[in-house]
Amino acid sequence: MNSVTLSPKSQYFIELENKFGAHNYHPLPVVLDRGEGAFVWDVEGKKYFDFLSAYSSVNQGHCHPKIIKALTDQAQKITITSRAFHNNLLGEYEKFITNLFGFDKVLPMNTGVEALETAVKLARKWGYLKKGISENCAKIVFVEGNFHGRTLAAISASTDESSTDGFGPFLPGYEIIPYNDLTALEKSFQDKNIAAFLFEPIQGEAGVVVPDEGYLKGVRELCSKYNVLMIADEIQTGLCRTGKMLACDHENIKPDLLMLGKALSGGVLPISAVLANDEVMLCIHPGEHGSTFGGNPLACAVAIASLNVLLDEKLADNAEKMGQLFRARMQNIKSPLITTVRGKGLLNAVVIKPFGDNKTAYDVCLALKENGILAKQTHTHIIRFAPTLVINEQQINEACDIIEKTILSL
Ligand code: PLP
Repeated sequence: MNSVTLSPKSQYFIELENKFGAHNYHPLPVVLDRGEGAFVWDVEGKKYFDFLSAYSSVNQGHCHPKIIKALTDQAQKITITSRAFHNNLLGEYEKFITNLFGFDKVLPMNTGVEALETAVKLARKWGYLKKGISENCAKIVFVEGNFHGRTLAAISASTDESSTDGFGPFLPGYEIIPYNDLTALEKSFQDKNIAAFLFEPIQGEAGVVVPDEGYLKGVRELCSKYNVLMIADEIQTGLCRTGKMLACDHENIKPDLLMLGKALSGGVLPISAVLANDEVMLCIHPGEHGSTFGGNPLACAVAIASLNVLLDEKLADNAEKMGQLFRARMQNIKSPLITTVRGKGLLNAVVIKPFGDNKTAYDVCLALKENGILAKQTHTHIIRFAPTLVINEQQINEACDIIEKTILSL
């Protein structure tokens, strides 16, 4: 099963990457050159179900025609102006996204981790200007198992050694408590220097860890009670992935700051955003934060199109329905290998037992690849299954047949 044979063509592209690229990823041995909807194709023309969706960036499906049209139309007019000047799309985009999510203002950035940096900076500023925290004393509470990206501001909060080892010293002013633990949260809030609590409503990279029902409501209540900003990192859970527009919508709560990324562009460009109300957002003044590419007209056109596709095609509803079907099918697989099936909408994980000769989730992913499904392990024994949200019932059943057959064969 482990002996994946590669064509000379695939081998060539993989060797190029190995020779000239940094070794900061460990990809599955497959070389893709085309994507459409729920599917991708490798350089030999073999078709696969995409069950990673570029870590939930391509919720709208690969190369969605409406998003690509927005991209190509705008690319022929003007792509970037920088924020040194105004452009005719930024305001339209800002109006659209703030109305959609119910916030006063948005701050546009590019990658997800830049949204994290922005949220941390906004929270600190607000802490000093509005909460009255003494200079340089602001703290932010994070949770164990989090993933917010790869910059120093993000990994300073990480409890994953492979993210942090050899990269210290880390940012001060961070406190880390257990996830899904409201008692620990309330205890941490006794410190008057806490400006914000920043967390994922479902932990994606940790292995699709879903907190108890009531956790989000509890977080909201405690943040309000102690005048601490509630910051939801919905970069992976947002934009219909979990069966609602936002994962916070499952408990009808609204954070003070909302971080979005990934599918905000339908996987076309790096586009991220932080949304907040004036009390927070207006703490940052001209010259205090920004990005050359943030809010460029190409990104604005793409983001509007990407959000419209999510709404027009009711992708939250589809994620909810297909997710239920997927989990039911996984739970029905009679294999001692599967220990847990969990998730919400189309953000799901199957936890497996170690098997054979020290085989792990990576080996399952290799076998799945051979059978036409691309999925990726997270940690050693967890496989995340996150197909594009345009997948239909017949396709999800077909994919479940493949997963079942693969797991039973191991
Ligand atoms: N936050 C969450 C919850 C994520 O899952 C990720 C990426 O996986 C990020 C932040 C970082 O996003 P990016 O890789 O675009 O910087």
